[in-house]
Amino acid sequence: MTRRVVFIKEDNCIGCQICIKKCPFDSIIGTENFVHRVNFNECTGCKLCIPMCPTDCIKVISIDGDKKDITEKILFNFQRKKARVSRVEKRTESIINSQIDKILANEQK
Ligand code: SF4
Ligand code: SF4
Repeated sequence: MTRRVVFIKEDNCIGCQICIKKCPFDSIIGTENFVHRVNFNECTGCKLCIPMCPTDCIKVISIDGDKKDITEKILFNFQRKKARVSRVEKRTESIINSQIDKILANEQK
């Protein structure tokens, strides 16, 4: 049995982190400005990262394996990423609201 995952061509990766932010399953590993890699045990092959890459270095490949083997890990990663994004969004909203409050308070003086 084979399944599809994506692979990053390291020679062309500029470490921009766009793919990490896009992957809903937290399957990409990397630090800013360094080459990124895909964890095949966590990649669903959804291809959402491919069109986001500015250097077109993410390609689809087939590997030996069954999706059933990684289902639990994929679901866990998806929920974890969703919770993280939600926390960041709430924090961002709170910062924006506090900035707006400060601006309005200054205007009323
Ligand atoms: S194909 Fe989907 S799961 Fe795999 S690395 Fe890209 S966005 Fe993540
Ligand atoms: S989006 Fe492309 S260039 Fe940027 S870190 Fe990911 S693989 Fe590398």
